[in-house]
Amino acid sequence: MTASSTLILPARTHAVARDLRALLGAEKVKDDVPTITAYAVDASIYRVPPQAVVLVESEEDIAATVAYAVSRGIPLTPRAAGTNLTGSAIGSGIILDVSRLNRILEVNREERWARVQPGIILAELNKRLSSQGLLFGPDPSSGDMCKLGGMVANNSSGPHTLRYGSVKDNVQSLRLCLTSSTWIEARSYDLDDPSLERLLTTAPALRDVLMMTQAHTNLIAAKRPTVSKNSCGYNLFGLADGLARGSFDLPKLFVGSEGTLGIVSEARLSLVDKPKATLTALIHFRSLEEIGEAVPQLLTLQPSALEVMDANTLNLIGRGKHGIPADAAATLLVELDADSLEIDLRKRAEAMATVCRPYELATELTLAFDAERREQLWKARKALYPTLYRFDPKKKPINFVDDVVVPAERIGELIRYLEDFFEGQRVPVAIFGHIGNGNAHIVPLLDVNDSGDFEKMVSAYQEIHATVLNRFGGSICGEHGDGRVRAAFVKTMFGEELYSLFVRVKKAFDPGNVLNPGIKLSAASFTEHIDYTRLSKSCATCAKCNSVCPVYDVFQSEDMSSRGWFEIVTAKDYSYLNSKRVVEACLNCKSCRTICPAGVDVSDLILQKRAEHPNQLAGWIFRRQAQGGGVFESFLRFLGRTQSMWDRPFVRKLLERITRPIMKALAPTARLPHNLVLPKLASRHLRERYAHLIPDGTNSSPTRSVAYFHGCAANYFDDGVGDAVIEVLKKHGAEPALPPQRCSGTPIQTYGHVDLVREGAQFNLRSFAPYETIVTGCASCTLMLKDYPSLFPDGAERGQAEELAKKVVHISEFVARSPRHPAMAKSDGIMKRVTYHSSCHLRAAGVTKEPRQVLSSLPGVDFVEMQDADRCAGGAGTYVVKNYDTSQKIFERKARAIAQTDANVVATSCPACMIQLKNGLGKAVHVKHVAQLLQDAYQAAERERS
Ligand SMILES: Cc1cc2nc3c(=O)[nH]c(=O)nc-3n(C[C@H](O)[C@H](O)[C@H](O)COP(=O)(O)OP(=O)(O)OC[C@H]3O[C@@H](n4cnc5c(N)ncnc54)[C@H](O)[C@@H]3O)c2cc1C
Ligand code: SF4
Ligand code: SF4
Repeated sequence: MTASSTLILPARTHAVARDLRALLGAEKVKDDVPTITAYAVDASIYRVPPQAVVLVESEEDIAATVAYAVSRGIPLTPRAAGTNLTGSAIGSGIILDVSRLNRILEVNREERWARVQPGIILAELNKRLSSQGLLFGPDPSSGDMCKLGGMVANNSSGPHTLRYGSVKDNVQSLRLCLTSSTWIEARSYDLDDPSLERLLTTAPALRDVLMMTQAHTNLIAAKRPTVSKNSCGYNLFGLADGLARGSFDLPKLFVGSEGTLGIVSEARLSLVDKPKATLTALIHFRSLEEIGEAVPQLLTLQPSALEVMDANTLNLIGRGKHGIPADAAATLLVELDADSLEIDLRKRAEAMATVCRPYELATELTLAFDAERREQLWKARKALYPTLYRFDPKKKPINFVDDVVVPAERIGELIRYLEDFFEGQRVPVAIFGHIGNGNAHIVPLLDVNDSGDFEKMVSAYQEIHATVLNRFGGSICGEHGDGRVRAAFVKTMFGEELYSLFVRVKKAFDPGNVLNPGIKLSAASFTEHIDYTRLSKSCATCAKCNSVCPVYDVFQSEDMSSRGWFEIVTAKDYSYLNSKRVVEACLNCKSCRTICPAGVDVSDLILQKRAEHPNQLAGWIFRRQAQGGGVFESFLRFLGRTQSMWDRPFVRKLLERITRPIMKALAPTARLPHNLVLPKLASRHLRERYAHLIPDGTNSSPTRSVAYFHGCAANYFDDGVGDAVIEVLKKHGAEPALPPQRCSGTPIQTYGHVDLVREGAQFNLRSFAPYETIVTGCASCTLMLKDYPSLFPDGAERGQAEELAKKVVHISEFVARSPRHPAMAKSDGIMKRVTYHSSCHLRAAGVTKEPRQVLSSLPGVDFVEMQDADRCAGGAGTYVVKNYDTSQKIFERKARAIAQTDANVVATSCPACMIQLKNGLGKAVHVKHVAQLLQDAYQAAERERS
């Protein structure tokens, strides 16, 4: 073939996606640059970019994708939340993401089981089961983000495995699509059940595996791991156990098969009753050896969880921060459950103290009985791995020997061996895990880009795994799965003969090696596909942020998620043009920043990218506003005065159409929806109504010490918030000043105008410098003012910004700390059921308790916590007009949570959230700012008095 006649073929990736689109529809198939970037990673150390991603929504979608992949021989990787630590949810072909299959199909309270789809998040499932007093027992520490499909495929477990077992002990049946395009019900079949014969005829692979297992029971018995947990290899041991009982126990084979044998579309799970009460205890030991001695005795108390963190782990996460004594050699976390109210947990705590008495403890036992305090004790443990990312900019926690299991009574010996080993290597290491099961998570901190550290990693991999097998008689994998990281060691663990049976199992189900190739069984080195670039970045790819990202909640797609966005905006080939779609979708709600254990602020990275392409129209508007008074505010006043004329259905429809081209300049999706309930615009702005509170500028030392930063909303809207804040402050003896002020900067920042934000901040710093306390009523202003130091990396302004940040308090904080207690009474003389929507920016500013404290103190208020109080409502300043449809989809979840509370008032701390709440809830529920409810109570008391 001559050069001139060479055909230019379409890139293979596009051909795959094009075919899949034709099969499934364009909405469900993606192969653009940001999507490929986001799906190239999971929570492991690897990176493998796929050719296309399919977001399946039905069994038909699964079947069509499987058939296509098999017919073309393209690797197919099922994926749920992508939180595995082994590289098993990434692949070079098609990613089949099951996240949108996230329904609970059926719950049977009496028989205690649930039928679920694979995309449901464990925490969501348990939240829903909780109302029926039920629970799915296995609890990986990643439970806030991992999904049932991944848990089943990995045979996950967690701290409470001690009591509830692993996933394999809690699955009754699975519905699976095999590569032969056959759907099977994988349950336990009696060997003489006629339906088994039908099944074996439909799926001959099962007959092969049945006969093979029957023929090799002795080999399987001889190679069975003797430790309490194992997720290495295929679970032929479970199948052999079933055969011994006269049944073909199929869930045992498929649970833990890591997406290499079939795709799960449904699982029937065994549930347990939720304990009636629970006690969590922290015990700090001074000696590792004594822990080894204490564990068997503590196990006699039948704890539901028994966890350990070694001395290095405690150092790395920061002893001071977590109140851990300097001389603790290791800390145990123990949990005891009470299944009936007759059981006295305090007595059980005494029994625990008696067990510990002979040992040298660093402090008394720390005991927690209430949910909030218990959660506090667990928090550090659950976020351990990503927290280790904070330790060093280069040395990162690397999961490659992370999941070994030894006999529980030898765990002290194992920890000592590991500490000596890594000390010899001069490598910091965190060792923690499920000591009650002898399952240790070993996470050394290494710079894999450094050749010395790389060599250490390779030698530690070989030596530690070999020691676990030969000296401890253990397993290399307790719960995380083999994935890419342990695949090459599976043969060493089980020997040639059993390994060849594993290969036969795989071949029987997947002769073309299409399903997740390279996972579980592979000769490839564990160092292949390591993502050297990413392992020098700050993000652990743990996906914790995805669990709170409202956009991910709606789209269930990694390219529309916080973790995905980190990958996208920090990629070498990032360009605004190819990623605009996703970069503009973030709400800047800051939920990711609030939750990230590694200290990453994805929202800020996105803002930085937007700042490279500031929006022109928004800039023009904000500049007019910054010029103060004049045309901008006159126009708003005019709109306020004429609102009754133009805020009518017909005119609004017309306005929506007329303004569409202008709005498009803000964002392609932006519009002024005719059905959006707009706030009432003030015909006299707050500053005009309270002109007497504005300092006259003649005196540099102000007469008042408290200043009110009202922000834009309270000034321009006639929503009563500004008036309420001022009145509440007066009641607390602090008539506030209203110094000249500019927009705090949040909305300006979201449109990329950093210079304008800084300019406004400089103005506000000067204006508010003389005051001792700066009170806010708006969540976004509160956070922005507290964040001002980040706008000024150094210089005098940095110092001024730090000073100002210290003085900022939200009105709810002001009231909660106030020494005055003005008289309050039941407003309107009736009881109100009030719930609280916790605005994202106020949470990010660390203000969570005070608003609730204030609400609970109001007379005539029955305060009820809503389930998703901490989730974004979707308003996010102007996001509601920038992307109305997404914003409304986000709100659906909030609306459900509010409805469940039966509240007739929703309180919040942010005028922007109020717009979204009022729009979404209509007239059935009142929406009020916390300050307004306080004002109502004070006024009611005054009325009573007079
Ligand atoms: C901070 C942190 C803490 C962790 N703690 C624990 C712990 O305590 N215990 C523990 O066991 N694990 C833990 N893990 C590992 C991981 O979270 C679990 O293995 C989890 O169950 C994986 O679920 P996932 O939804 O993320 O699955 P993914 O990572 O998406 O997938 C995992 C495997 O399941 C397969 N798969 C997914 N869906 C399907 C399907 N529908 N059909 C067939 N195969 C499918 C994938 O191909 C892959 O092989 C932790 C991870 C992190 C980041
Ligand atoms: S940004 Fe933080 S929470 Fe999100 S994936 Fe990275 S480390 Fe985890
Ligand atoms: S700021 Fe909010 S929307 Fe944006 S990435 Fe973070 S959690 Fe998601």
